[in-house]
Amino acid sequence: MTVRVRYAPSPTGLLHVGGARTALFNWAWARRHGGAFVLRIEDTDKERSTLESERSILEAMQWLGMDWDEGPGVEGPYGPYRQSERDERHQEICTTLLDEGKAYRCFCDGERLTSLREVQMANKENPRYDGRCRDLSHEEAEAQMAAGEHFTVRFHVPEGETRFTDHVRGEVVFQNKEVDDWVMLRSDGSPTYNFVVVCDDADMKITHVLRGEEHLVNTPKQVLLYEALGLQAPEFGHLPLMLGSDKKKLSKRTGHTSVQVYRDLGYPRDAVINFLCLQGWALDGETEVFSVDELVKNFEVRDVSKGGAIFDPEKFQWLAGEYLREEEPAVCAAHCAPFVIEAGLMTQEELEERADWFCEVVRGMQERVRLYSELPEKIAFLFQGDEDLAYDEKALKNAKKHEVRADVLTAVRDTLLPMLEGGADAASLSEAGKALLAEREWKFPALGQPLRCALTGAAGGPDLFDVLVWLGPERARARLESALERLS
Ligand code: GLU
Repeated sequence: MTVRVRYAPSPTGLLHVGGARTALFNWAWARRHGGAFVLRIEDTDKERSTLESERSILEAMQWLGMDWDEGPGVEGPYGPYRQSERDERHQEICTTLLDEGKAYRCFCDGERLTSLREVQMANKENPRYDGRCRDLSHEEAEAQMAAGEHFTVRFHVPEGETRFTDHVRGEVVFQNKEVDDWVMLRSDGSPTYNFVVVCDDADMKITHVLRGEEHLVNTPKQVLLYEALGLQAPEFGHLPLMLGSDKKKLSKRTGHTSVQVYRDLGYPRDAVINFLCLQGWALDGETEVFSVDELVKNFEVRDVSKGGAIFDPEKFQWLAGEYLREEEPAVCAAHCAPFVIEAGLMTQEELEERADWFCEVVRGMQERVRLYSELPEKIAFLFQGDEDLAYDEKALKNAKKHEVRADVLTAVRDTLLPMLEGGADAASLSEAGKALLAEREWKFPALGQPLRCALTGAAGGPDLFDVLVWLGPERARARLESALERLS
């Protein structure tokens, strides 16, 4: 059997992190088994679906690197891949089911259904359709239609029990009487999700349906429909709900919920993928950082956990940092560049002219940022004026702790700057700095704190010898001279 899986988003917003995880697990499963990953747009809800949302979902999928083998843009043998374009086929299947008595027209109006519901609720019964139109004869139904009465089409749930194996939750059994005769076509003729999802999954020869746990309640209805159509149902796997840190369904309260927001906040793409995987799956219970290749090699649906996955924003940031740090400086620099431009620190042209310099700065900063977007704020000091560099309170306080600060700044100026002029690198400057400490019997903070204040204006930050190189001799001298005046 060739594995054929699908991701079937409704285009009603941005790509939700829960949806992205569903897509990712399906994609990984397809890639692992050399199968097909199908993307189908479920846009039957005309009021809420928009083309703009469809576009943004596709774009986010592309950003994540989840290429689809069939679907919008690539098409394939079972298209069209936009549900609204398959209407004829849906009507055809509906007619077959009606003809075979597996579905029926229901003429009960809203008023009757509401009062039925009220009575059932008052009797503490589960509200459900009572099947009044189930046994209408063909002639009766025809007559009501001829009289212009509105109707819905309901699925006729047979008696008995139904089972399916869920790759995540094991064997699932349900009593058919717990399933209502659900609506397949609304009175305006539009099909419902449970109906079309089966039509399309069957026509597209889907073998495995991996989707969020919120759909578990729908699966019995769908399995029964497969049986009515004389088809074998696909295998299912329901992925655990993604919960916020408050253990409730993930919502905007506890973090951003769309993939695009994380991209725009400067999370490395692979960190996003890795983090989404950790929502319900683990490589081995220990390794938290793993590559897409490792995911594809090892992904098993049966290893997905049943329990709710907790979406922990702090862990997400930590993971982002792990990835950012591992990037080649030039790659990381390219990822950071848009944020630096956006912050107004450098223009595109300046970045091109000073590409080596910027790359070197990024290399020195990689340990200190987790997101690309964090870089601009941390390197803003490099773009400030040398004579009027702003000192923050803590930097000033630290610097002023040391009586020897003027000596320190003078010594740096007189010994390190000539080296810098001669092209010394950070490592040799650091050696010279150490020699200075030994010679003058200063402890490192006595040198480090006044120097940091003078060069960066902040109490913490990158390696000071790196900073000297980044500034270059002239600017470093200007900052030291200014500090000599301002700190004494
Ligand atoms: N369009 C449905 C959703 O976005 C798909 C559910 C399914 O995978 O069956 O939730």
